[in-house]
Amino acid sequence: MRLSRYFLPTMKDNPKEAQVVSHRLMLRAGMIQQASAGIYSWLPLGFNVLQKIEQIVREEQNAAGAQEILMPTIQSADLWRDSGRYDDYGQEMLRITDRHDRDMLYGPTNEEQVTDIFRTHVRSYRNVPLNLYHIQWKFRDEVRPRFGIMRGREFLMKDAYSFDLDFEGARRSYNQMFVAYLKTFARMGLKAIPMVADTGPIGGDMSHEFIILADIGESEVYCHKDWLDLDVLTSEIDYQGDLQPIVDKFTKIYAATDEKHDPSLCPPEDLVSTRGIEVGQIFYFGTKYSEALGAKVSKPDGGEAVVHMGSYGIGVSRLVGGIIEASHDERGIIWPEPVAPFGVGVINIRTGDEACDAAAEDLYAKLTTAGREPLLDDRDERPGSKMADMDLIGLPWQIIIGPRGLKNGVVEVKNRKTGETEEMTPEAALNKLAR
Ligand code: ATP
Ligand code: MG
Repeated sequence: MRLSRYFLPTMKDNPKEAQVVSHRLMLRAGMIQQASAGIYSWLPLGFNVLQKIEQIVREEQNAAGAQEILMPTIQSADLWRDSGRYDDYGQEMLRITDRHDRDMLYGPTNEEQVTDIFRTHVRSYRNVPLNLYHIQWKFRDEVRPRFGIMRGREFLMKDAYSFDLDFEGARRSYNQMFVAYLKTFARMGLKAIPMVADTGPIGGDMSHEFIILADIGESEVYCHKDWLDLDVLTSEIDYQGDLQPIVDKFTKIYAATDEKHDPSLCPPEDLVSTRGIEVGQIFYFGTKYSEALGAKVSKPDGGEAVVHMGSYGIGVSRLVGGIIEASHDERGIIWPEPVAPFGVGVINIRTGDEACDAAAEDLYAKLTTAGREPLLDDRDERPGSKMADMDLIGLPWQIIIGPRGLKNGVVEVKNRKTGETEEMTPEAALNKLAR
């Protein structure tokens, strides 16, 4: 992509409405624009990152055996009356009436909808376990939308739903999602700690919120200090194998949300009490919806079983802000490579200079061929403002091309995270970055 043609409306000054760094940087980097309270348009740079995150989530869900579907945003109120949630959900639900006076709603979540799909088609134990997910916009009329897309009213969520014959099966499905979540967040360069979460009337120990630690986080959380230097999960996983040992490894170190915090479970000198951002939650809720909506399968030895269900959410749009909270400096965003909107920023310090233009075009073409998705700053701007913009948008690598260096046959390669720069020939730069 060429910056001269790219729609990247960056801002030099800090927008007054933004209270947290991720919101500030997303506005300054031209990633989003507020449409109304808690509702945003995603501009090219922001949408690019959102799609990268979405793709990682998708790949890890698929790897764990979940199957992607797409359910609508608008749902009929009738299903929600059957489950009893139409009245329970309260003011966060956006209720709509169509031209025939039928009650509709903009989905805040999809348990009812997916259970309806299941009960229509699945009747036999042979067709479970089944895990269906979609990545779809949700609407919750939050009392206090804030922090930009981190607590929006309209937001993008991945939500998966598992169906099993019995509790044992449901635990296996739960473990698959638990491990898939560890891998998903690790791939984005995040340490998300699975914390014991409230299961409400369902009871049991099968709910975890995945939390990234951050001072501005809205959740009060507690964990053992060992979490701070525990390595994230990066190994290959056999999802058909026994995942319990991995789950045990990551649940035996104390971590709990405010509602579930029990001081007797962690020595006070080891306890870290801090704040965090909830980027995902997994939840086993037994037969709550399958019972109400009649989702049953035949059992191997005769008779019928009401299926056991779980739901598994990831805040895809919230993650964009969460990653920025975890990875930035005073000059701007620092994208972890796997979610970076472009792999390398090529800055032509003096557009119009023959040698600079030729070197920049050549590197741009070769990086493109190598699949590194370069962003070329070919605008006629002051060098200082080009450098500032490139630092602001946080691509992991920069190649800076100027007339003085080129006279000596070199360009500058800069690592955005460490700030380290190195002079080398354009060929060496290409070898280093065109992996
Ligand atoms: P919260 O406690 O933050 O309100 P929740 O527990 O109500 O979230 P879930 O129903 O667990 O949310 O939804 C799954 C995921 O969707 C959450 O873990 C979070 O990452 C994301 N999410 C929930 N509400 C919002 C929101 N208003 N804006 C952006 N992301 C959200
Ligand atoms: Mg939650």
